[in-house]
Amino acid sequence: MLENKNNSRTSLSDIGEFKLIDHLTKNIKIHHKTTIKGVGDDCAIIESKKKQTLITTDLLIEGIHFDLSYMPLKHLGYKAVIVNLSDVYAMNGSAKQITVSIAVSNRFPLEALEELYAGILLACNSYKVDLVGGDTTSSTKGLLISITAIGDVEKKDVVYRNSAKPNDLIVVTGDLGAAYLGLQVLEREKQVFQVNPNAQPELENYTYLVERQLKPEARKDIIKLLSDLMVKPTSMIDISDGLSSEILHICKQSKVGCNIYEDKIPLDQQVISTCEEFNMDSTTVALSGGEDYELLFTVSQDDFPKIKGNPNFTVIGHITEEKEGKHLITRGNQKVKIIAQGWNSMND
Ligand code: ADP
Ligand code: MG
Repeated sequence: MLENKNNSRTSLSDIGEFKLIDHLTKNIKIHHKTTIKGVGDDCAIIESKKKQTLITTDLLIEGIHFDLSYMPLKHLGYKAVIVNLSDVYAMNGSAKQITVSIAVSNRFPLEALEELYAGILLACNSYKVDLVGGDTTSSTKGLLISITAIGDVEKKDVVYRNSAKPNDLIVVTGDLGAAYLGLQVLEREKQVFQVNPNAQPELENYTYLVERQLKPEARKDIIKLLSDLMVKPTSMIDISDGLSSEILHICKQSKVGCNIYEDKIPLDQQVISTCEEFNMDSTTVALSGGEDYELLFTVSQDDFPKIKGNPNFTVIGHITEEKEGKHLITRGNQKVKIIAQGWNSMND
């Protein structure tokens, strides 16, 4: 769906900045009436209604956050939007606009930026967000992308990280660990390719993992589902760095502890089989892997009947008093301390 079919090369220096911006932004569709002015003036204009405005930014740097040897530019554009939208949904908000700033070296032809923008606009159209502006400049080396997402939320609906309460249930959406394993698979294929450039990538057994790494989705659907079920989480965060570091953020900011049950952590069958093949521990992968872009939230026990049995949700534990600490209860019924990178089996 996202493959690059474009093989010609047009040098950016032949086009100039203004033509480039016009070219990249000519296919933008505006979805929201609150977008009064998009690309084209000194500023975009957004009409603010009574809601609160959410703003979030991410900066992605080639060689640090992405590797173009296995990340097609169209996927990169798509993912760069998704990671920002995920932050808006994690506040229980609705994403409305984005701005996109890029710095590119002359190593990139126009066609490369067309691919990048095709991915950006695909995400904008499927999540109904308006690309309303940005900045374009050159870099001496590599590609930098900074995206800012703007959203809104009714004051009464905002969900922070700092409001989990003892006895609340800890819930996660989807399944965990696949995106990290997808990266391991792609890294392995890259190394094989470096040794033997004629090698064909062997990815059939890892389709779900690679898709989770290269084409993640943000859980806009969950925000609607929670609203339909009339469930307001007591706290929420999106899983970008891994379950353990995200639950620690909730615990620290809410001044609470937690017990998470190893046997409850949702894993896809491909995660389980690939962990066996790679000799990795699937719990470690789920706790420390990251880039799942699932939502981690807490709900009052009173709301349990509303989420019970829903395949989107897995209850993985509960919140405790702060003094009880933050623990993983293993399959062998051992209580081990959760640390930012997984858990510490040396401590209890
Ligand atoms: P200024 O000199 O005021 O910064 P620019 O010439 O950089 O204006 O940008 C002109 C218009 O194009 C503005 O609306 C800006 O937001 C938009 N724009 C510039 N770069 C990008 C980009 N990479 N993606 C989307 N919109 C962009
Ligand atoms: Mg500018």
